[in-house]
Amino acid sequence: MPTETKAAPISSINPATGEVLHDFDCASEEEVRAAVERARAAQSSWQELGIGRRLQVLRRFQTLLQERKADVARLITREAGKPYVESLLTEVLVVLDATQFLIANARGLLRDQRIGHANLVMKAKRGWVRREPCGVIGIISPWNYPFNIPATEGLAALAAGNAVVVKPSEFTSLSALELQALLRTAGTPEGVFQVVVGAGATGAALAGATIDKLIFTGSVASGKKVAQAAAARLLPVVLELGGKDPMLVLDDADLEVASSAAVWGAFVNAGQTCLSVERCYVHRSLYELFLAKVVEKTGKLRVGNGLDPETEVGPMIHERQLQIVEEHVEDARAQGARLLAGGTRLPHLGPNFYAPTVLAGVTHEMRLMREETFGPVLPVMAVESDEQAVQLANDSKFGLAASIWTRNRARGHAIAARLQAGTVMVNDVISCYGISEAPHGGVKASGLGRTHGRFGLEEMVWVKYVDSDLLPRMRKVWWYGYGAEFIRQMEGFVDFLFSRRWGARLAGGLRALRAYFRANWL
Ligand code: NAD
Repeated sequence: MPTETKAAPISSINPATGEVLHDFDCASEEEVRAAVERARAAQSSWQELGIGRRLQVLRRFQTLLQERKADVARLITREAGKPYVESLLTEVLVVLDATQFLIANARGLLRDQRIGHANLVMKAKRGWVRREPCGVIGIISPWNYPFNIPATEGLAALAAGNAVVVKPSEFTSLSALELQALLRTAGTPEGVFQVVVGAGATGAALAGATIDKLIFTGSVASGKKVAQAAAARLLPVVLELGGKDPMLVLDDADLEVASSAAVWGAFVNAGQTCLSVERCYVHRSLYELFLAKVVEKTGKLRVGNGLDPETEVGPMIHERQLQIVEEHVEDARAQGARLLAGGTRLPHLGPNFYAPTVLAGVTHEMRLMREETFGPVLPVMAVESDEQAVQLANDSKFGLAASIWTRNRARGHAIAARLQAGTVMVNDVISCYGISEAPHGGVKASGLGRTHGRFGLEEMVWVKYVDSDLLPRMRKVWWYGYGAEFIRQMEGFVDFLFSRRWGARLAGGLRALRAYFRANWL
């Protein structure tokens, strides 16, 4: 019998206090395989239930989540550290709204769709597209939105008739297990939505199991490993990866509004949002004033335990993430960046607190401007023109989202067209993620494919084209009988369809008709 080495247990820990909330054994490869087999066995009856009954389950889930919103939000805050109100709005509310989107739209979006034929030869056919569930969808998710990400992806997969196996982050298993419990209470049959807890090896086991599609959200490094494993067996994947989102403050921006957006965009969830403002480019004419406002607003932020209703910025998730932030800030300072706020740990508050930090005088030689920092740091750089702002914004391996700040919307839209990003917001940051209809995803190293809305739902299905011939007793002219005469007739047919000269068209049509009669009546 092959022996499997048992992976080290993992713990869910409150990042604000260090309290261990729960210890877990990691699911082994065999346990992951078994979960996928259970999902496979449960999937066909879930699909056969039909869209109407599946959406009823989603509606019950929505009711339960709304009723239990405070408990769920508290759990997320205890496990991931973010302020309670952020758990309520960016996790619970976003999921309630995503569920509403599916309840209202999934039936229409998944309906069979007629495909018309313009080509004359194909006129005697009816064709349509069916959207069929992929089967078993694997979801591997990160810790920064531990409820929202597996829920929005998982609910879309369920609505489309798939079974789902989720491998949540090893740091936030409890939030995903809460999602599983809510879905089970709402009436999801056993095996249709399962969570397997564990670290990277459990994720790799899920990517290697007999799933039909994988939706991965996490870092570029892990995403590359997953993509390589998937390529070996041509497993389709969606990759939602890291970002280094730029904020472009043009010379006509409203400074008061843009500076508030920069502060919230950089520090919400302690800067641990894939769509965080990670780089800020401000026109030289506004630069010093913008910095003054940003520093003043940053200084007023209340940092603390997310369960305290007054808290605005919580802890970071763990020591390793904090070290990355420190390394980036130190590297920037060593290269001449000016520290205007923060830049230190706050150990008196707990183990993982880092002060909201503002740096000026940064350059693209610094790690802070090139790598994902994923912490409460706002680097601000002066630019001389829109042209330079666009060039610097695009000078990145990432392309998740970007924002543009201007009083002139047309100018904003013109610049939006030039930015290499999956999403560009004009005069807002991050909130696009809360628009259930809007697609979410990146270009370049930020990923492949989309989640959310219509495009996210399309990722959960195979598109099958069904073609039905309306003249089943008729032979097709191209079913052999090749030869010089046939070639002449087919050349005539091409002329009939596409010649610019009416005479050639007519002659070609007559020749083509002969081929048609020869195939069927001669
Ligand atoms: P991570 O890559 O360390 O982990 C993500 C998930 O992958 C976890 O569940 C982890 O256990 C699993 N994993 C790790 N190695 C694996 C492997 N070899 N095979 C399979 N699974 C593996 O990322 P993280 O630290 O949890 O999350 C932060 C990152 O996620 C940031 O880069 C952030 O930008 C990104 N993120 C992106 C989006 C998006 O929508 N684009 C959303 C949230 C977070």
